[in-house]
Amino acid sequence: MGNEPATSRYVRQMTLPGIGEDGQKRLGESHAMVIGCGALGCTSADLLVRAGVGRVTVIDRDLVEHTNLHRQCLFTDADAENHVPKASAAQSRLCAVNPQIRVLGVVAELNSINAEVLIEDGAFGKPDVIVDGTDNFETRYLLNDLSVMYALPYVYGGAVGTSGMVAVFRPETTACLRCVFDEIPAPGSQPTCTTAGVLAPVSSVVASFQAAEAIKILVGADDAVTTDLLMIDGWHNTTKRLSLLDAKDPECVCCAGRRFEFLDATNPSTVSLCGRQTIQITPGAVGVMDLVQLRANLAPHGEFEGAETMLRGRFDAEEGLGITIFGDGRALIEGTDDPGVARAVYDRYIGT
Ligand SMILES: [Zn+2]
Repeated sequence: MGNEPATSRYVRQMTLPGIGEDGQKRLGESHAMVIGCGALGCTSADLLVRAGVGRVTVIDRDLVEHTNLHRQCLFTDADAENHVPKASAAQSRLCAVNPQIRVLGVVAELNSINAEVLIEDGAFGKPDVIVDGTDNFETRYLLNDLSVMYALPYVYGGAVGTSGMVAVFRPETTACLRCVFDEIPAPGSQPTCTTAGVLAPVSSVVASFQAAEAIKILVGADDAVTTDLLMIDGWHNTTKRLSLLDAKDPECVCCAGRRFEFLDATNPSTVSLCGRQTIQITPGAVGVMDLVQLRANLAPHGEFEGAETMLRGRFDAEEGLGITIFGDGRALIEGTDDPGVARAVYDRYIGT
């Protein structure tokens, strides 16, 4: 920190009439939780950390890959080479960006089993806002359940291809995500970053809008918070706004009926990660795995490295397959798109 006066870093932002000294103080006392640290999460977390939000939690389940680097601004080539978990790489980078605040990277998949624990019992306490950096609707609906259950403002964002959208859901006063999109899209019905690609500046714009909304929420500038679903296309140069002022659905399963279907769901035990020949296996209960012991057990069967926060390696008898195991028992089986093959390897060597 050197000789930097505590507030000189934020002076250009405190000059803004909507923020001022008071707003800056509020930001410093706030906790933002960014869920998913891909393109959206990287940019929004970076902006929130630079803005001086006092506590920022970043949750992500995945490892940095070279295909991420064209758009995920917190990561370097070395992070991809070394298969660093995104949440860990993000924490290091963000702490270096602003040592005046606290940043926590959590290497985990937010799911129905751990969601309430992560929201209520995280090191930084309950968040004041949740920022969506996820890439799938199932997790978004889970975020929406959390948003409604805990009355947490939810800043939604999504980007794929050359277009993206942003909205803010504050279920106590506005519609919730399920009032607007009531059913989860069928698997395979929506384009993904793998099938359609993604234009990095578009994800960056979407995440910047998300960060702006989060800042407005945290400083208490309620009148300035958007009430629209904003849609932009960065290739065809179009923007559309759809007012959500009348979008609250009195029959909404979630915010009217207070049924939290995604929080109550049995956790899917296997999920294919966005077209990169990787299957994720999540055990059915939250537990702590002794990775040092596991490494010793696996040693006769192949080559393994690490054990502090994760264990990586290959089995001699499973050609072409790699495995990464995290301390909560979650594993990524690389080299296959077949959940059956992945499950078999997990059951064979790790067990449930
Ligand atoms: Zn609703």
